[in-house]
Amino acid sequence: MSLKNFNWGLGGFIIGYQAILLVALPFYLYYTPPHYPVVLASIVLFVLTSFGVGVYHRHYSHLGYKLNRWIEPLFLFFGTAAFQGSVIMWAHDHRKHHRFIDTDEDPYTVSKGFWHAHMLWLLEKSRPRELERYVPDLLKRKLLVFQDKHYLALSIAINTLLCIAVGAIVNDYLGAFVLAWWGRIFVSHHVTWFINSLAHYWGERTYSKELSAVDNFILAFFTSGEGYHNYHHTFPADYRNGVRWYHFDPNKWLVWALSKLGLAKGLLRHTEYTIQQKLLLADQKLFLTTLATQPLTRKQELEARLHTLYVSLQEKMERMKTLRDERRAAFKARRKKLSYALREIKRTARKEWRQWHKLGRSILDAQEL
Ligand SMILES: [Zn+2]
Ligand SMILES: [Zn+2]
Repeated sequence: MSLKNFNWGLGGFIIGYQAILLVALPFYLYYTPPHYPVVLASIVLFVLTSFGVGVYHRHYSHLGYKLNRWIEPLFLFFGTAAFQGSVIMWAHDHRKHHRFIDTDEDPYTVSKGFWHAHMLWLLEKSRPRELERYVPDLLKRKLLVFQDKHYLALSIAINTLLCIAVGAIVNDYLGAFVLAWWGRIFVSHHVTWFINSLAHYWGERTYSKELSAVDNFILAFFTSGEGYHNYHHTFPADYRNGVRWYHFDPNKWLVWALSKLGLAKGLLRHTEYTIQQKLLLADQKLFLTTLATQPLTRKQELEARLHTLYVSLQEKMERMKTLRDERRAAFKARRKKLSYALREIKRTARKEWRQWHKLGRSILDAQEL
């Protein structure tokens, strides 16, 4: 990056605050070691701001659910406190990231390297934003336009307020300033940036093997669930990122809890069958490309077996979707019948899944030999 390209405003702020913090922090920790209340308060604030960023992401950028208008300002308040820019700017860049993933049009493309995706993109002068094209819906919302217009003043005011509140509660204003404000911002910045860098590098490509995005539990732990990034890039509108019940995704749990309290509605989620169909497609692509590179004598036979199983499983998935919808609309007696049919088809599908995995494993293993 040349100096001509350097974004002196944003870049200067990012480098400046981190440099000051990294120099000052050891002195602070040495001369006035913080007591646990201020550490705890900083962690609580970190979690609240990460929920705010979650709302920036799943609610505003992807419209995965609708927040009640009375609770919306509260999340916007904590989102603003994260020093990650206004919703309109954030969503603009993020929608472009999804649409142009792994190309030069993606503002934080990982194809330009890990550090570019992590933070260097923020230090460069950005291309003029095309708000009317990417976020026309958000431009119609007065609250978001207000936040965008006054972002700098609002974020400083909110953080000052939070810092004073934490300082008063734990009786440690210096600790609140160093840890609950700047320390929290530092951690919050880097874990969010890791979603753009590390979550495009290190982990499993579960659903879309052609994308750089990966699922990574460790990142999910530090980002309130945002680390299941391969699933997210495959199904961006789903309000969940961690789709299994055991996936660590506090943002998903929060939205679900809000919906139960009547504070969120219209939660978008893909059915288990749609997800499995996508898994099947990703597997098939991998198995076929692996087969193509192998000098296997039984190649044609394996391809035929893959095809038969693939078609059969896809059909079963479609049938299960239809049965499930029919069951929902049916009366009691018929519902029982449909449940039985659904159970039967699930049982045979499970058997075919086992055959599918066995066949796939034998193809992949043959390549490794
Ligand atoms: Zn991504
Ligand atoms: Zn996204």
